[in-house]
Amino acid sequence: MTASAADARLCVITGGASGIGRTAAELLLARGWKVALIDLPGKTLDEATDAFASNTAVRVDACNVTDEAAVEKLLAAVEASHGPIAGVVNSAGIAADIHTLDTPVDLFRKILDVNVIGSFIVARAAARLMAKHQHGAIVNIASISGLRGSKGRVAYGTSKGAVITMTQVLANDLAKYGIRVNAIAPGPVETPMVKALHTDADRKLWRTFVPMRRYAQPEEIASAIAFLVDGTQSGYITGEVIAVDGGFRGAGIILPEGA
Ligand code: NAD
Repeated sequence: MTASAADARLCVITGGASGIGRTAAELLLARGWKVALIDLPGKTLDEATDAFASNTAVRVDACNVTDEAAVEKLLAAVEASHGPIAGVVNSAGIAADIHTLDTPVDLFRKILDVNVIGSFIVARAAARLMAKHQHGAIVNIASISGLRGSKGRVAYGTSKGAVITMTQVLANDLAKYGIRVNAIAPGPVETPMVKALHTDADRKLWRTFVPMRRYAQPEEIASAIAFLVDGTQSGYITGEVIAVDGGFRGAGIILPEGA
């Protein structure tokens, strides 16, 4: 590691091999941060490992965020190898769009496990480390589906609603340790998750109900993440949820397209 890289702030990003997490990693790196990417083992993680192989400011590890012992061990190792953790982005997540009547309980439990418990496990492990140096910021990636009752989101939306409440509680409990905790609630974002989940009919619906009539690019979420994780930019913001959603949360009935 070069001297300047050694001085840089370190951000842990879960789900960091893909989509919003990966894009946030690239933006933070461009702004001089070090990043530790955590994701499930597999092709996407291998590709990220290869892409960052020559960059000493990056660490890439396979880890399931629902594995409490593995997360605790990994974050301690990340601090030891790359310096104190200044930021955490909880971007690891899974989604489903399935009618309430057809939603299996096992699927509901799995979504809660990854999106809620996994985010808690990572946030708590990081906060225990951050508390020692009285400094840090956690950004949880929630969803607009955690704020509005969109169709098919009984499990996913519930999990993201829980992430928002958890964000507020963590902000409250951790303020005395100098740790800020905020959430971002994205609307639809062009990522591998959405490419797999959204049908053409879904895309039409989103374009109908999002006043800006389009999906976000991951870079538009990453810039909000970079703002919230950086105490020089957002030092008095904690317990907040920022919707990055093209106006979806605030809209009531909207004009038809083209009107
Ligand atoms: P993505 O699928 O591209 O990335 C998510 C990553 O999380 C994947 O690489 C996946 O392997 C990883 N992951 C899943 N389960 C994991 C686990 N147990 N442990 C470790 N890693 C795990 O999706 P994305 O669109 O970039 O989503 C990132 C976050 O943003 C998610 O929490 C998602 O719910 C949220 N979000 C996405 C959208 C959207 O439209 N794309 C909208 C609102 C919220």
